[in-house]
Amino acid sequence: MDTVLLSSCNDANASNGYLKHGAPMRLATEIRRMGRTCKVIDLFTKLNDKAWEILIDKYVDKDTRLIGISTTLLSTYFTGDDLEREVYFWGMPYEIFRERIAMIRRRAPNALIVVGGSQVGIETAATLTDYIGIFDLFISGQGEGPIKAIIRHLYDGTDLKITRAHDVPFVTQESYPNHNFKTSDIVWLPEDLMEYGEGAVVEVARGCVFKCSYCTYDLIGKSWGDMVKDPGVLRRELMRNYEMWGTTHYMIPDDTFNDSIEKVRMLHKVFTSLPFQIEFGTYIRLDLFMRNPDMAKLLLEMGIRGGNLGIETLNKKAGRLIGKGMGEERVKETAAQVREVWGNKVVMRANFILGLPEEDEDSMYRTLEWLTDPDCPFHYAEFNALRIDRDAPKSKMELEDMKRLGYTFENRMLWSRKSDGMSYRRAQALKLEFKNKIYQSRPYAAMVMAFGVPDRNNVGISTSEITRMLDARVDLVTSRGETKPWVG
Ligand code: SF4
Repeated sequence: MDTVLLSSCNDANASNGYLKHGAPMRLATEIRRMGRTCKVIDLFTKLNDKAWEILIDKYVDKDTRLIGISTTLLSTYFTGDDLEREVYFWGMPYEIFRERIAMIRRRAPNALIVVGGSQVGIETAATLTDYIGIFDLFISGQGEGPIKAIIRHLYDGTDLKITRAHDVPFVTQESYPNHNFKTSDIVWLPEDLMEYGEGAVVEVARGCVFKCSYCTYDLIGKSWGDMVKDPGVLRRELMRNYEMWGTTHYMIPDDTFNDSIEKVRMLHKVFTSLPFQIEFGTYIRLDLFMRNPDMAKLLLEMGIRGGNLGIETLNKKAGRLIGKGMGEERVKETAAQVREVWGNKVVMRANFILGLPEEDEDSMYRTLEWLTDPDCPFHYAEFNALRIDRDAPKSKMELEDMKRLGYTFENRMLWSRKSDGMSYRRAQALKLEFKNKIYQSRPYAAMVMAFGVPDRNNVGISTSEITRMLDARVDLVTSRGETKPWVG
C-alpha cells in the first residue's frame, strides 16, 4: 500500500456507538485521486497487539511511503482527570505506542510518519517538541493542501516547504492552502468496509462566522457564505452514498450548521430533493433561532435528529465576555420555542462550561437546577471544565485575557482564580457531580447523545427508538441488553 492513514476515536463502544471518522477519509479521497493507493485503519488505538500486527503486515511494507495519523478524535495526552502523560499517549500506554511506531519503521523504512489533526498546530509547537523524531512531519491546519504537497514531494520529487517552529517541522495550510473545499467530497470504496445502511460523515461547510473568545477552532471569523459546499456536489455525494451503501443518516461536522438562514434554506432544498429522508446530528447555535422564526421548522423538515447547542452559560456577564450573551431569560424562552416545534423528534443537547470568568458556583448550581427540572426543554446537558492552556495559547481568551481575568496557573492546564477560589480541579469535581445529577434526573441521557444519533444508529439503536425513549423518559436500550456490534 502506498499510503496508510491511522485514525481512532477513544469514545467508540457498544453504547456510545460508532461512526467512521470523516477527516482521514477526506484525505484518502484526495490521495486516491492522485493515483496512489491508500488504506484507512480506524480504531487503531483500540487494536490489541495481534490485530495491530496482522493489519500492519497486510498493509505496510517497503513500498509504503506515507503513514498519516489523525489526532482529532484521540484522547489528549493531558486529560487532567485520571491519566498521566508519562503512562498514556492518546489513550494508549506510551510503551505500546512507541513499539507500534517502531514496528512501522521496521516494516516501512522509506515511509514518512506524519501527524495532523486538531491536536497539532504551529501555534502549539512548543508543546510538540517531545515528538520530534517520533514523527517526521507535522501538518498544521486543513490537511488537504499539505498532504497533496507531501505526496507530490515523495513521488514526483517536488520541493516541500517546511516551516520550523521550536524545531518542530511543519507543513502548513498557509504554505499549501485548500482552495477547493466547495467542490470537495468523501468517496467511500469497498475497502473502507462500509456496511450496507451504515451512517457516515458528510461535510457541508467548514469554519464559523463567529469568534467566541474561548474558541480554539481554526477558521473562525470567516465571512458569511465562505467555505460552504456547492449544492450540486453535496447532492451527488449524498446520492452516491445512498446508492452504494444505503446511507441515509449522517453526522455533519459543521462548526455552526445554522449560521445563516440562507445556508439553512440552501441545504433544506438539497436534502428535501433527495429520494429518501436524510437524518443527521450537528452543531447549532441557539441565538440564531431568535432572529429566524422559520429555522426550527426548516431544520426538522430537512432531517435534523440531534442538535448540539453550545449554550456555555446562563450567566449574562460571563456570556457577554465569551461571545454568548443571550442571558438566562432568552435562552430559556428560545429553547422552549424550539422544543415546541421539535418535540421528541430531535434530541436537544446543551453544552455548558464550568469556570468561565465572572460566573461563581451559585450561578452554576442554578443552571443545574434548571437542567434537572422535568420541564426543561433540553433532553440532556453536558458540562465541561474550562480548558485553557498556558503553554499553547490559541483562543482570544488564552492569548489576551488570562491575567486580566484573574487566572493563574499551577502547570500547563491547572488554572485557578483567586477572586472566588474557582479552579480547574474544582470545575472537574463539579462536572462529575453535575453529570451524576443529570443522569439521575434523565436515566435515558447516555443513550440519546444528540451529536451521536448516527453513531447509535450504527450499532442498531434506531432514531425512532431514541424518540420512544424520550417519550417514555426511560433507557430502553440498556434494558434490552443488546446492540448491533458493527465496530470492526
Ligand atoms: S464556539 Fe462555536 S460558535 Fe463560537 S466561534 Fe467557536 S465554533 Fe463558532
